Amino acid sequence: MFPRWGLMPMNSVRPSAPQLQGMEPYDPKYLPADTLLSANENPSDVEEELRREIQREIRRVPLNRYPDPLANELRDMIAEANGLERDQILLGNGGDELLFNTALAWGGPGRKFLNLPPTFSVYAANARLTGTEVVDIPRRADYSIDEEAVLARVAQGGIDFLIVTSPNNPTGELADSVFIERLLEATDALVMVDEAYFEFSRHTVRPLLGKHKNLVILRTFSKAFSLAAVRLGYLLGDADVIREFIKVRQPYSVDAVSQAIARVVFRNRAKFEPAIQAIVDERARVLDGLSRIPGVTAYPSESNYIMFRIKDAGEVWNSLYERGVLVRDFSRAPYLEDCLRVTVGKREENDAFLAALKEVAIARL
Ligand code: PMP
Repeated sequence: MFPRWGLMPMNSVRPSAPQLQGMEPYDPKYLPADTLLSANENPSDVEEELRREIQREIRRVPLNRYPDPLANELRDMIAEANGLERDQILLGNGGDELLFNTALAWGGPGRKFLNLPPTFSVYAANARLTGTEVVDIPRRADYSIDEEAVLARVAQGGIDFLIVTSPNNPTGELADSVFIERLLEATDALVMVDEAYFEFSRHTVRPLLGKHKNLVILRTFSKAFSLAAVRLGYLLGDADVIREFIKVRQPYSVDAVSQAIARVVFRNRAKFEPAIQAIVDERARVLDGLSRIPGVTAYPSESNYIMFRIKDAGEVWNSLYERGVLVRDFSRAPYLEDCLRVTVGKREENDAFLAALKEVAIARL
């Protein structure tokens, strides 16, 4: 039936917000493969005994009730382990949600985010989504941070927040904690240190928290603690900073089942140590293996992945995938021409990767 005023019914939608025009949706390029080494996950799932404890804990969760919005039990556990108070911790639906909340709370139209590319591309995407201007200070040729350029830019003023990734994804190196301290002293911008992979580097800037109100640290359960499926990340920071994050968050973003799982895992976190150490040991072996493959330049890593350069990397990615090995292709990303990133997996997965790459590299000589 036509409306009374005689117009044709509409079948169209007006454009979405202007900042979305020309933007591509984020695509983690997660494809099925025998050997999954593209997403920096922990290759070991949570062990059977812990899974049973998780099941018992989940059985006690009232499914008809909303979850504790702030996950206070978990906050207390994380606070205690880090020598902090409950109000200095915030849980999020993966580190990803907390990164988005950073842009919501410290970005926005008329505000500036200082980015250190190449790094995790989600930061700049969140800035654009929130109408925040992105100021890039590219890394040097070896992917170390151009420290003096960053310090000079923050000294000019006008930067509202920056994110220092340590270890950096995808390039693998740590940020120098002396540099981070100089940065914290040089600016009142919010400085987030993204320590998503810190358990593999065993380096943290947490000791700086008491001294610098503008420092906030991001961590996740997705990597060292084998919970990528569960979606849980957390912040450590000053209580006043955390309060601003609470203003922008979705009240129930961390569901009660995830909270129950994370409580069991965090309580038992010491049990994850051997698997973390195995990844650290394998990392050295994979780096050594890569260095023996002709035409490959590998970058040392403090994390659970290794970036490497090889001519025609896009084609190499395809050839690896044809052999059942999925790695991450960065060859079309800015500053990362001919770069691929491989997650450090279990010994047999790493062997499958190294054998496939060797075959592909030798065929291309
Ligand atoms: N920071 C960095 C540097 C990452 O690589 C990732 C995962 N890709 C995250 C944060 C977010 O991880 P998650 O949302 O799984 O906690």
